[in-house]
Amino acid sequence: MLKLWGNQYFLILFIVNILSNMIAVVRFDDALSAFVILCISAVSATVESCICRLFRNTTLSKCVLWFLVTLHLIVAIIDIFLAVNFQKLLSVAVVCIVAETTSSEASSFLSTYLDIRTVLCLIIAVVVVIWFSLWFSRRFERNRVAAIISIILTALGVTAYLSVASGHTFNADGINSISQLHSFTRLCHASVKFKEILGNMQSIRDINRHVIASSHQDEAPSVIVVIGESFSKYHSSLYGYPKLTNPLLAARAEDGSLSVFDDVVSLSDHTGVALFSIFSANGSDEPGNTDVLFPTCFRKAGYKTALLDNQYFTGGYTWITDIPLSEIMFDYRNQHEVGHDVNLLKEIPNFADPQLIVIHLIGQHYTYADRYPSEFKHFTAADYSSALTEDEREMLAHYDNASLYNDYVVESIIRKFHDKNCLVVYFSDHGEELYEIDDFMGHGNAAQRPTIDYQVRIPFMVWTSPQFQSKYPDVVKRIKESVHKPIITDYLAQFLFEAAGIDTKYYCPELSFINEKYPADISRIVLDDIDFDHRAKQEPIKSRY
Ligand SMILES: [Zn+2]
Repeated sequence: MLKLWGNQYFLILFIVNILSNMIAVVRFDDALSAFVILCISAVSATVESCICRLFRNTTLSKCVLWFLVTLHLIVAIIDIFLAVNFQKLLSVAVVCIVAETTSSEASSFLSTYLDIRTVLCLIIAVVVVIWFSLWFSRRFERNRVAAIISIILTALGVTAYLSVASGHTFNADGINSISQLHSFTRLCHASVKFKEILGNMQSIRDINRHVIASSHQDEAPSVIVVIGESFSKYHSSLYGYPKLTNPLLAARAEDGSLSVFDDVVSLSDHTGVALFSIFSANGSDEPGNTDVLFPTCFRKAGYKTALLDNQYFTGGYTWITDIPLSEIMFDYRNQHEVGHDVNLLKEIPNFADPQLIVIHLIGQHYTYADRYPSEFKHFTAADYSSALTEDEREMLAHYDNASLYNDYVVESIIRKFHDKNCLVVYFSDHGEELYEIDDFMGHGNAAQRPTIDYQVRIPFMVWTSPQFQSKYPDVVKRIKESVHKPIITDYLAQFLFEAAGIDTKYYCPELSFINEKYPADISRIVLDDIDFDHRAKQEPIKSRY
């Protein structure tokens, strides 16, 4: 007994197991779950110490021990980082986000969340954990009482595994899956699920290859879809923000060519998920039809199609980076990021009309200071409320300068297509929180915040060219009449099909917000399972500045 539960290997592994497994308590948040995880850690440490002892105290057994310790520490560091900043743990959602993150997004992310102080704290924490586990293992080595407690915890842990395996759950949220009980199995489960997602890619390609669509217009209009990034409607002067961040688009709204919609939400607070919902046609309840992507329909209807992107490029293994799927959707895609967004205009190919041009900006994605050239430095920290810290005021100035530059970028796109028969749709993939409630800025954790509004409500607008206005006055009238309707970008494709006159079985008039069949009480499910219009907290929490 002392050999198995009273030896140093078991005690060291028990400490690091508790560290890497116990973080899951943030998800379950109750004492019973914490105790179950403690028992599971004892089971895991028992198994792992047995593996080490297979090598009979040789150098190899020490190597295996420290390899396992290192793995536990890495998982613990990642989990603590995700839990502190995003109230998330390593899961399939996180694996998907990481897989879709470009190298420049990753470096922006790390420079935003990792500073020298955090790195130093991490190093000190790792040293303290290793020191403590060594001290603990020496202090309690061959200690009979400690060994008996360990045996009891291990026995209870085995019971917990068996009871979960037989369908029992421990609390309302439910520790109900064996894979979720241990950090390593949770990570393996996420990887397996991610592989399943990759497997779905083949079916998305097949469905899109066989799409049938046509245009019923004699002179079909060109369609320009501009997808912004992290643009908060609460920082747009078009929506009442007191700082003039949208002077050029305001002039378009003033002359009546730009319709500004005031009740639009994004399906998700993550770029990848939001983009897929925007691209998917969602036009029929036949199974699998949600995987039809709208550029495919336009291309099959005779449009020349292009994607100009400042974030995603082909060569990866998600739907937006998959080369075969991209070749089904688009005649042209740019292959590299282009620095500031205005450079995307140079990448727009010279297509004959009608054309569908999708432009995905880097917009106001952190780090905000990198998102605008120096001539757009208009706001400074001194322009902001003294209720905020100096760093927060500085960050807001960068954000608003990036928004001012974004106004110029969208205006430049409109000007490029001004003389064509076309419409330009511009909206953000999701919103952004900017210290309105507390010291948090960013996106990706809306469901855990006091309100989801700042990250989910988005600016949304449609500009129509003079030619389009004279050719389709009825469509323009219906766009203008729809600016107060509740809209979710999940159904954007349906509006595009109707406005451009695309015939396809994936078109569903009930989901097109300019159609008379569009219901006033359309269901808007956001962030997986939140009914946006029937939330408990309906009123947006007032900004503290
Ligand atoms: Zn985004």
